[in-house]
Amino acid sequence: MKIIITITVLLITTVNIYAQSDKKEMNKDVKKTEQQWAKEFSTEKYQVLRQCGTEAPFTGKYVNHKKDGYYYCSGCGSKLFSSKTKYDSGSGWPSFYALADSSNVIEIVDESLGMTRTEIKCANCGSHLGHVFKDGPNPTGLRYCVNSISLEFGE
Ligand SMILES: [Zn+2]
Repeated sequence: MKIIITITVLLITTVNIYAQSDKKEMNKDVKKTEQQWAKEFSTEKYQVLRQCGTEAPFTGKYVNHKKDGYYYCSGCGSKLFSSKTKYDSGSGWPSFYALADSSNVIEIVDESLGMTRTEIKCANCGSHLGHVFKDGPNPTGLRYCVNSISLEFGE
């Protein structure tokens, strides 16, 4: 009986710590329920932005997009990337070597699919953007690999 109680207390504590760190990390200015997001977004957009999905490579509208301007979060409009840091990585997803404003993006270690990757999310609305890898070009050596559907371009 004691063991069960201890485990329960541990579980509750863990959940609490997780909930607190989640709150701290995400400056959720945009507060919507998952049902609201699901209503607003297409099925594909919901799967990528809210369920951490990945669009198929070479299918997104910004893979070969080369106009000058900024890429904003398609969930809330936060500024994420500048076209000046976009490059052709050959991966099939829009790739950038730097963030336009680092306070608008949070990084989370993602251990799904048997790999350790670093997920990137919008700091404002918590939408999934893609992942960041350490095989990018100079001057940062980083590759922000982003789903087109998570982005909205503006000049
Ligand atoms: Zn956002």
